[in-house]
Amino acid sequence: MEQISHYIAGQVAPGASGRSGPVFDPATGIETHRVDFASAEEVRTAIAAAAAAFPAWRATSLSRRADILFRIRDTLDAHRSEIAAHITAQHGKVLSDASGEVARGLENVEFACGIPHLLKGEYSEQASTDLDVYSIRQPLGVVAGISPFNFPAMVPMWMFANAIACGNTFVLKPSEKDPSPAMRIAELLSEAGLPDGVFNVVHGDRVAVDAILADPDVKAVSFVGSTPVARAIHESATRSGKRVQALAGAKNHMIVLPDADLDMAADAAVSAGFGSAGERCMAISVVVAVGAIGDPLVAAIKERMAKVRIGDGRDAQSEMGPLVTREHRDRVASYLDSGRGQGATVVVDGRQDPVSTGTGFFLGVSLLDRVTPEMDCYRDEIFGPVLSVVRVETYEDAIRLVNENPWGNGAAIFTRDGGAARRFQFDVEAGMVGINVPIPVPVGYYSFGGWKQSLFGDTHIYGPEGIHFYTRGKVVTSRWPDPATSRVDLGFPRTR
Ligand code: NAD
Repeated sequence: MEQISHYIAGQVAPGASGRSGPVFDPATGIETHRVDFASAEEVRTAIAAAAAAFPAWRATSLSRRADILFRIRDTLDAHRSEIAAHITAQHGKVLSDASGEVARGLENVEFACGIPHLLKGEYSEQASTDLDVYSIRQPLGVVAGISPFNFPAMVPMWMFANAIACGNTFVLKPSEKDPSPAMRIAELLSEAGLPDGVFNVVHGDRVAVDAILADPDVKAVSFVGSTPVARAIHESATRSGKRVQALAGAKNHMIVLPDADLDMAADAAVSAGFGSAGERCMAISVVVAVGAIGDPLVAAIKERMAKVRIGDGRDAQSEMGPLVTREHRDRVASYLDSGRGQGATVVVDGRQDPVSTGTGFFLGVSLLDRVTPEMDCYRDEIFGPVLSVVRVETYEDAIRLVNENPWGNGAAIFTRDGGAARRFQFDVEAGMVGINVPIPVPVGYYSFGGWKQSLFGDTHIYGPEGIHFYTRGKVVTSRWPDPATSRVDLGFPRTR
């Protein structure tokens, strides 16, 4: 069986800890690879390689760094299908979706190509007589990224593109469930001319993450994953004085007002609920049907669900693939029984779809209606192809429901009423808002991040806030000697 090893200082580094984990093809349920799990010592080796590469990389001119980023962009783009195939083989999402993931990740590399512009400071000539003041932003040093299974290529690109563009060196700890896309990206970055040690990959579990968090050479940690782990990582990194952004779980609501276009809303609910088998942090997991639209909306969603083509994702036809592991599939499916037991109506039970009985980790699409906020299927992040419908009477009931939910990643409204949409934008407590758009993932030149339990730390990821996260500011106050005006002055410096 093929072994997946670390990538340190520009080379594949076979694991030496004696610990490893299985990697499955979710479509067949077969274990295809073993991935090495790094020990604390191996993590130290990767961080040391990044620390050794930092002085030269930091001193590399902006134009040279931009040049390398353009090459990285072209190299990754040329291997787009290959990276997508790795994603499909280990994550399970269909090839077209995997290719979309790579494209959205590349947006971040494209943004980072503008680094000479993005790092421009401010300059105030003659702030005081013969005195100038200017600001610069400098890299932090070694920074680390810890990424989730559900976007094994895009989320690392959210992190490393800006990080290395700013002059930092990087250590990535990808998800142990689908590690190959990150490895292929590491090789391609080297091929594109990135100096050895600027980008390193260590695989593993909590042992590797704890070693990253404990290392004083790591100056900042960018984490994306589930809420309990995000909270713990934020606390630990903050305690040791590291800069940290920890993007976390979600429960994204889509409010459908009675005046919404029914077909458009139903199309959006099915696309955003079941795309990538619901394993997206911006998936719609709750449809909030306001007033009389409830019955026709549930009927329209059900009709569309019957047409979703489920398959192994390697063909052009399948629209939804399997879930990432058997345990995750079974956990997702358990919400159908718990929902029924707690009073929800199971409109479509995905377990009855024949795909759910094979050896792969498939689960058919499922719909729960008349879900209420006390039910486990509403309270927990299910992260699978189970869509819930909550019925409410008014817009006020709907916005209260959304705002009382502890998560606040994305939220959407479907309506034809511009005033209602504007009010929603004003009222809603979520970091990313869609108006007749179900998955409002910002483009690469804005920043991505949720509110409440969906983000620990104050900086959103990628875009302008990503540049801010990976740099620290310095302000220089400068005077050049002019013997003609020099004198002793013990007063506090004032502008003159
Ligand atoms: P996860 O929290 O299980 O794992 C994320 C990373 O943390 C992985 O690299 C994993 O190896 C590591 N990890 C897991 N348990 C750990 C522990 N106890 N201590 C230290 N490290 C640990 O998340 P996942 O299942 O890979 O990804 C799905 C989750 O990520 C969902 O909750 C989803 O909403 C969230 N997510 C959020 C965003 C966002 O931008 N807010 C984006 C994608 C995914």
